[in-house]
Formats: sequence, C-alpha cells, structure tokens
Amino acid sequence: MIAVEGISKRFGDYTALDDVSIEVPDGSLTALLGPSGSGKSTLLRIIGGLESPDSGRVLIHGEDATSVPPQRREIGFVFQHYAAFKHMTVRDNVAFGLTIRKQPKVQIAERVDELLRIVGLAGYAKRYPNQLSGGQRQRMALARALAVEPRVLLLDEPFGALDAKVRAELREWLRRLHDEVHVTTLLVTHDQEEAMSIADHIAVMDNARIEQFGSPRELYDEPSNPFVMGFLGPVS
Ligand code: ADP
Ligand code: MG
Repeated sequence: MIAVEGISKRFGDYTALDDVSIEVPDGSLTALLGPSGSGKSTLLRIIGGLESPDSGRVLIHGEDATSVPPQRREIGFVFQHYAAFKHMTVRDNVAFGLTIRKQPKVQIAERVDELLRIVGLAGYAKRYPNQLSGGQRQRMALARALAVEPRVLLLDEPFGALDAKVRAELREWLRRLHDEVHVTTLLVTHDQEEAMSIADHIAVMDNARIEQFGSPRELYDEPSNPFVMGFLGPVS
C-alpha cells in the first residue's frame, strides 16, 4: 500500500498541493483524476521521489519513503512522452534496468521474452523505437518499467499523446495487464472515462486537494460535492 500523509507543496507563492492524504490499496489500479493544474503530476512525482514535499510524508508498504531516493523506491514510471533509447532495440530497451543491475544474461533474456509477450510485442524485439507506433512505444515503456519487478507503478497520462481510438484500446489493455501482474498502480489522468472505466478506486483532485476518494460507483452514485458531481456527471 502507498500512504500519503498530509503532503503540502508550494512553488513560490503557488500552492500545488494543500495537505493531501490518500491511501492507495495494495494491488489496486487507482486513478488520480482531475483537471489540468490540479496537482496530479506533482503528487505522483512526490510519491516517486522525483520531488520532495514541504511537509507530510510518503509511506510505501509501511516504510517511510520520504527521504528514500527514487532509484531505491522500487518504482516503475511511465510518462506521456516516453524517452526510449533510440539507438537500442526494443529488447535492449526493456532489458536496460536488468542489465545495469548485472543480472545473468540467460535470466535477462527469459524475463524480457516474458515481458514482451505480456505487452503484446513478442515479434518486435529486434526493432528500434522509431519503428514502433505510438501505442506500441508506450507498451514498450510499460514493459521496461515492469522489468525490474517494481512494487509500485506510477503512470502519468501514459496514453495522453495518442489518438482517441488507440487510447481506448490501450486503456482496456492496461486493465487486462493489471489483472495479470497485480502491481499496485497509480494512474494520473484528466480523462473521466478512462478513470471510470478501468480504475478500482479514484481520487478526484481539484485545486491542490483531493475532493473525494472512492470506487467509480461510489463517486458516480454519491458525489460528495458539486465539483465531483459536475466533473463526473453524465454529459448531456
Ligand atoms: P496536473 O498534473 O494536475 O496538471 P501539476 O501537478 O503538474 O498539475 O501542477 C499543479 C500546479 O503546480 C500547476 O499550476 C503548475 O503550473 C504548478 N507547478 C508544477 N510544477 C511546478 C514547478 N516545478 N515550478 C512551478 N510551478 C509548478
Ligand atoms: Mg500532469
């Protein structure tokens, strides 16, 4: 479980996070949903250790991770614009985290084959990133993030740059992937449909705060305030 306790973060005079607390249940796919500028990425970056909070703390599986550097948090990241190594094949990109950990070659090869199968890129191992579609590249990014068996997967609008049709496909695919690998996943999105259709739990953010946390059903049936109702409500 990831627990965020009373996190605040300011950039100069601007409050990006205002006393935010949230518990992300173990093994869940939880969405951080909110309009642009509401603080989603800042919260994700703090959980991942890429940014430090002004106050509050982050617990990952019960341990205070607030001062643990990102590379030791056992976290996989995928961002909207994935920076692949362009000169490396798909296989070597996915293997990267294992190679730098100096795992035995045979073991790496087996693990990479398994990952490429899981993300549906089994036939693409020898290609280069620029020979993949945008959707395939994001799946490669997920394989790479999963390679080191992270305890937590942090996804910041991973499909945000893709067109609507591919986005809808990858959304369903991510849900199936999660059902297969069960890694605790926090997905940042501003897309209500994406969150409502695949998340187990949703934290709705607005204005540096979490307005409500619940299952899609709970949020839809019992929005706790007009913002949540307006943000999730059916578009008429
Ligand atoms: P979201 O991901 O929900 O769109 P962000 O967490 O990226 O929101 O940003 C929340 C607010 O904090 C925005 O108004 C943004 O401009 C501001 N912000 C984020 N990072 C920085 C930074 N490094 N310096 C100054 N302002 C920032
Ligand atoms: Mg963002």
